[in-house]
Amino acid sequence: MNRLLNKIALITGAASGIGLATARRFAEQGATVILGDRNEALLGQALASLGEIGTGHRAIRFDVTLESEWVDAIAEIDSTFGRLDILVNNAGFGKFQSIEKTTLEDWRSTIAVNLDSVFLGTRYAMPLLARSGHGAIVNMSSIRGLVAGPNASAYCAAKAGVRLFTKATALECAQAGNGIRVNSVHPGHVETPLTAPAYANPEIAREFLEHTPLGRFAKPTEVADAIVFLASDEASYMTGSEVVIDGGITAQ
Ligand code: NAD
Repeated sequence: MNRLLNKIALITGAASGIGLATARRFAEQGATVILGDRNEALLGQALASLGEIGTGHRAIRFDVTLESEWVDAIAEIDSTFGRLDILVNNAGFGKFQSIEKTTLEDWRSTIAVNLDSVFLGTRYAMPLLARSGHGAIVNMSSIRGLVAGPNASAYCAAKAGVRLFTKATALECAQAGNGIRVNSVHPGHVETPLTAPAYANPEIAREFLEHTPLGRFAKPTEVADAIVFLASDEASYMTGSEVVIDGGITAQ
């Protein structure tokens, strides 16, 4: 408890899945959480559920692919809290299909939600994170940012981009001496509303679990716990690192 006491944290994609689990863990550890998501209905439910764990949490409906909405969200956080300690760039999605079936629009939307969003969040939150003196950014990549898979070209390109963007940002922050640490997380197969329909298919589940040494899907809280660690002062010497949470998949 209290590993994130008095921290102000913005989590994107916080209305569902890994983002929601992270928001709950952050609140349990004493953080004041700002939930960001474009889904207004789910966002309202998520904020209400956080009410069980402390007070002062807020929700901001915004689309992480839109620059003007980032500007407004950060301005709202600045006027409400005057600082930001943690940014978790988590929002994302994947459309899994062959390159031939991938339209330029599919490609661009996948890059926008998974990679442009991380750039925009970093770009606009940085001044507030620097003001805190000990800021932390955790970027959501995937094992697909480390090793490729078929029918995931745009997603792999975006998540691999997140991996090196994270390291580039970490180096820039270290050089600037602004106190901001930047790390990425790389989950394997996590059971969330995004993946549940696919995992409910016994053939797909068997195929995925066959190459997962731990032999089961991850729970969103198992990713959230790694994010708590990276965001906390316990990880004070970690920057530019990648933390893999994949049940052993990429160890093979
Ligand atoms: P999810 O669909 O359960 O949650 C994603 C949330 O992001 C949703 O609430 C959605 O509304 C929000 N979102 C999507 N696009 C947005 C936008 N443009 N602006 C604002 N909010 C937006 O998915 P999840 O499985 O929890 O995935 C979260 C992140 O984890 C994603 O970046 C995903 O690529 C990554 N990831 C997931 C897995 C997995 O197996 N589930 C594995 C590796 C990485």
